Amino acid sequence: MLETARLFLSATANHPISAPLNLKLNSGDRALLILYDQLNLEAFPKELLAQKPLIIFVESRKYAMVIPHHKQKLVHILSTQRHFAIACHQQGFPVLNLFTEGFHADAIDSLLAEYPHLALTYMQPSEWDTRSQFESLAHKFNGRVQKIANSFFIANAEKYKPKIKKGYRLETFYRELRKQTGYLMEGDKPMGGSWNYDKENRKSLPKKIVIPEIPEIAPDAITQEVIDLVKNYLPDAFGNLDRFSYAVTREQALDLAKLFMQSRLANFGAYEDAIKTGEPFLFHSVLSVYLNNGLLMPQEICEMAIAAYEDQNNLDQNNLVPLNSVEGFIRQILGWREYIRVYYEAQMPTARTQNYFGFTNNLPQLYWNADTDLACMRDAVTNVLNYGYSHHIQRLMVLSNFSNLTNTDPRQLNRWFWLAYIDAYEWVELPNVLGMSTFADGGILASKPYVSGGNYINKMSDCCAKCKYDVKEKVGDQACPFNYLYWHFVDQHRDSFAENGRVSLMVNTYDKKTDPDKQAIRDSAVKFIASLDSDKMVQPLYRDLAR
Ligand code: SF4
Repeated sequence: MLETARLFLSATANHPISAPLNLKLNSGDRALLILYDQLNLEAFPKELLAQKPLIIFVESRKYAMVIPHHKQKLVHILSTQRHFAIACHQQGFPVLNLFTEGFHADAIDSLLAEYPHLALTYMQPSEWDTRSQFESLAHKFNGRVQKIANSFFIANAEKYKPKIKKGYRLETFYRELRKQTGYLMEGDKPMGGSWNYDKENRKSLPKKIVIPEIPEIAPDAITQEVIDLVKNYLPDAFGNLDRFSYAVTREQALDLAKLFMQSRLANFGAYEDAIKTGEPFLFHSVLSVYLNNGLLMPQEICEMAIAAYEDQNNLDQNNLVPLNSVEGFIRQILGWREYIRVYYEAQMPTARTQNYFGFTNNLPQLYWNADTDLACMRDAVTNVLNYGYSHHIQRLMVLSNFSNLTNTDPRQLNRWFWLAYIDAYEWVELPNVLGMSTFADGGILASKPYVSGGNYINKMSDCCAKCKYDVKEKVGDQACPFNYLYWHFVDQHRDSFAENGRVSLMVNTYDKKTDPDKQAIRDSAVKFIASLDSDKMVQPLYRDLAR
């Protein structure tokens, strides 16, 4: 009997993908497993699809539970997969949608055991644990399970993996990929003469600028059924589910991509690092949600952006795309996204355990409920609770910065990012958190720890004007905590700062402070960190997150 893998009929009974369980399989029949983040037939070999294989999807309760993901993320994964399963059926593929209490590989294990004539092809999973489970499965069913390479990325990870070591930085990798793809190239030279226009991409937001809205996509019957399922089965999961408006089909995601190119790409570059209270998206594309589950392919999004830059006849005057915007956008996808994926391939599984500074504090409770007087932190966590999303500078310079400055165990922060963000799969969030923002790998990926005082946040946001704390005060109960925490961090970790030319200046600046000033910094920092409610997690579900 197929016990752990059974048809999951509740949401699909009205759709013709509820294939009979007593499959009639001939010797040598081949099925194709498509995982939750591989939802695009363009990425699979045409010869394989031409055989019209049985396409199998798995809904895994254990995957949903092992990291207690944000409710909207669970809805997004399940609803998108179900919509894609129906689209495959409509294209003439036989489709089987399985549900398992276990992991994805457990469902396939039971299926292969029950149907000894069935052979299976699967694409290399992007996440380490799922990959390991399928490697064991392939070993068990030797000869019946075939793996194909993952085609959802541009860079050849095997080529670049050996280069990932201290000193192999993004810029070198990015230039190689620009040459390989020809994106924004004029012959062998970068378009406009520069590889990188980041210096033009650090403007704070003008007060009167209009931020175009991202259209909300109302949940259809399939999404609504998944929303009810998540509300019923995982009421204590992280985040709010009062609204859900993400795209769940490729067509919807493509429409959002086209709209971004027309209305927000123009200002993406200049205001990439800006923060505005109550505005989780600003000019960011939010396409990582759809790139990371496969609905959109990285090449097509890069090419759409380049086309928007090269053919500006269709854009109105207010939306003309400057080179710094399109280059900044291409660098995020072709550069950063591909680079961190290679890092993950090269550094796992040891990357998970890194804690360079040896921090031991628990993640402060405010990450779970946004209950804090720090206006910048409250806004960033509120965005995450409401949308499973905040843009990259809130992730880096607010949430990660605060975690570093409060000596929080970076592995706890890493798990929080993994479960809290709708676009977070381990391959993408782990390098961002343990490699870049917390410096937990000791400098393999980044050249310095990402820490700053309140001045940076004040310059890039409107938060400080709305805050109980005074960003101009340096120490004491009214002072912005980022200020004294920053100098305390510089003092505590002076060795790692002193070694680094880019930040050694800060150690010199600290050393020039008077002894009473240094003591006041220490006192304020110790008092503030002790005041954080870090020992008591909000919900028992999250107690085991550190590992
Ligand atoms: Fe954040 Fe400090 Fe500004 Fe308050 S004053 S919003 S804590 S940076």
